[in-house]
Amino acid sequence: MSPPRFFVPNFPREPGGQLDAAESKHAMQVLRLKVGQLIEVFDGAGLSAQARIASIDNKHVSFEVLEILSNGPPHGVSLEMAVALPRGDRQKILVDTLCQLGVTRLQPLSCDRSVAEATANAIERLNRQVLETCKQCRRNELMIVESPVTVNELVRMDSVKRRIRLLAHPYGDVPELFDVLCRRDGTDVQQILMAVGPEGGFTDDEVFRLVSAGWQQVSLGPRILRVETAASALAAIALAVSNSSRASGGNIIE
Ligand code: SAH
Repeated sequence: MSPPRFFVPNFPREPGGQLDAAESKHAMQVLRLKVGQLIEVFDGAGLSAQARIASIDNKHVSFEVLEILSNGPPHGVSLEMAVALPRGDRQKILVDTLCQLGVTRLQPLSCDRSVAEATANAIERLNRQVLETCKQCRRNELMIVESPVTVNELVRMDSVKRRIRLLAHPYGDVPELFDVLCRRDGTDVQQILMAVGPEGGFTDDEVFRLVSAGWQQVSLGPRILRVETAASALAAIALAVSNSSRASGGNIIE
């Protein structure tokens, strides 16, 4: 079994450091770790290391770094998702899944038909979920959960950096996401921003504003998916195409 992972922002590469109070408590009281046991630490910005517990006092666990395992964020795709948050526990599923898949940034989207408000408390809770997911799935750089934006603010967000902006809205004569990405240049598919609407869907006016600003509508097929299912499917397909394109030097599968 792989050693338990702990989040330690800015940990020194050598000789080592200390887990914070919450992580120390978890290590001591839940996992019952002892001096000498191996752990893994990650800084949330891409750095991770194998470490050994050096000492345990009343409140804190100290560790020594044995070996740097990963030195920085992967040079992968930048995949940002603007999503109208679903209700309750489904927010957790959304964040957990997108973080596991490798989404870079989650931008809660406030739409006319939104059912859940992305309050500061909600964002904090979701960022805590990101930490849990990063520990479990061995992701070393945190997925950033941003403060919410409106559709108007989304329209104004820097469009140069994000080469492809896609709107999941399968109504009318709308192409499949996979086909849209495969027709694009390999460099384009490394910088993607996608938007998913609320349970009630985007309004015609929201669709009009986004499409007028250069967003392209895409479909995931004939069924109406839940918000978190649509977001996960979009992320998985986009990552598959961009990773495959990078692996083959920029050529996209015909
Ligand atoms: N009753 C709503 C359904 C919304 S489902 C409506 O008729 O629009 C929530 C969101 O998931 C949608 O706004 C869309 O962004 C995304 N979604 C759901 N099914 C989809 C599909 N088949 N293709 C693309 N996006 C989809």
